[in-house]
Amino acid sequence: MTVFPALEIPETLAAGPGPGNTDPRVLEAFAKAGVADHMQADVLRGMIEAKHMLRDLWGTKNLFTFGVAGTGWSGLDSMEGLILPGDKVVSFVNGTFSGIDDLTIRIKASALEDLAADSLDPHPANVHTVSVPHGQSVTAEIVDAALAEHKPMWAFMAHWETGSGRVNDIQGFSDACVKHGVMGLVDAVSSLGVGDFNIDDYPGVVAWASCPQKGVLSLPLTYAPVSFTDNAIELLKARGCYSFVHNPIFEARHWGIIEGKDVDTPSYHRTHSGYAVAAFHEALRIILGYGRGRKASDYKYHEAALRQAVEAMGCEVTSNMPSLIVLNLPGKLAGREKELVQGARSQGFGIWPTLSEPVQVRIGILNQLTPEQITEITSRFADAMLAMGAEFDKATVLNQLKSYYAKAA
Ligand SMILES: *Cc1c(COP(=O)(O)O)cnc(C)c1O
Repeated sequence: MTVFPALEIPETLAAGPGPGNTDPRVLEAFAKAGVADHMQADVLRGMIEAKHMLRDLWGTKNLFTFGVAGTGWSGLDSMEGLILPGDKVVSFVNGTFSGIDDLTIRIKASALEDLAADSLDPHPANVHTVSVPHGQSVTAEIVDAALAEHKPMWAFMAHWETGSGRVNDIQGFSDACVKHGVMGLVDAVSSLGVGDFNIDDYPGVVAWASCPQKGVLSLPLTYAPVSFTDNAIELLKARGCYSFVHNPIFEARHWGIIEGKDVDTPSYHRTHSGYAVAAFHEALRIILGYGRGRKASDYKYHEAALRQAVEAMGCEVTSNMPSLIVLNLPGKLAGREKELVQGARSQGFGIWPTLSEPVQVRIGILNQLTPEQITEITSRFADAMLAMGAEFDKATVLNQLKSYYAKAA
């Protein structure tokens, strides 16, 4: 038997696509919560209050708005569980994450024969995957053409594809779903808490799923926010799904959503953690207190600053997401992306490569919304590039950044 020494994890600067840097208030709420069971009155009240704050964050009147315990994939699994074997689906893929969503959807839409043919990567004929090249966005035209051609029951898209850093056309997606009588499902893992949008403005989308660790900034593993329209829930009630724990109707009961209405007496679904509830509740208070609109414009403002700085270092930016920059290194360093990222990470500067081809570098700014923090990220990235032989003058880059902020102020 081996008892290992106590695990120590160092502080790093999380400057990737996620997880974002957890606010000390969230950690404090987590650590300060008393030991209380999952049916204790304040734990339940916290869940109910979090549910109401989530409706504001999503911009929705959807009754079925709550958190699925776990990570982003837990919420996505709950949403994608609406799809049953044999259902006709069109899914749009433009990067790593929509690719994994597409795999999830193919698994859920598979018949037994499809799974038996290739259980880890089934290809049921009823799922049509539309692949959009890495670095490009899913457009209204692409969605409209595919839905017109295939006339599916469901359509799936990522709102913001974090793998390639691309914002997809949610208005076009929703409009096409309405026009063709299709039910839209959206992965909003990267956009919730970063962008300023109301999901009720997109009636073609019947269900949305996000995560705790990106814009919501509640990493102490908490809840993946989800929201379902009444139509989606009625369909679910009529047809069912192959899950107890991730069935939205069952899961919502612990958040005080029972038999089509809000109640103040939730019922047991699983053993929720008072620590997690306290952290999640605080994270939502922070975002709503900051203001969703202000946060969205702050992300855009600081993304533009960082973009300018990495371009001044000779990088080519191919993303258009407000919380993330995806770039190609200048010609001389091309092909050494992973080396650069590994070097930076070993210094506690947590940037990322892309997780699928082509290899690019990703730098994120989640919860880094001050000139000082962006300057720190710029400076550390400049050091990493210079250490590998890049040719630019760091002082010039930093001065340019300084004047960007001075001009804006
Ligand atoms: C991060 C991410 C996921 C996965 O979230 P986890 O918290 O790692 O489970 C899914 N989709 C998108 C678009 C993401 O950015």
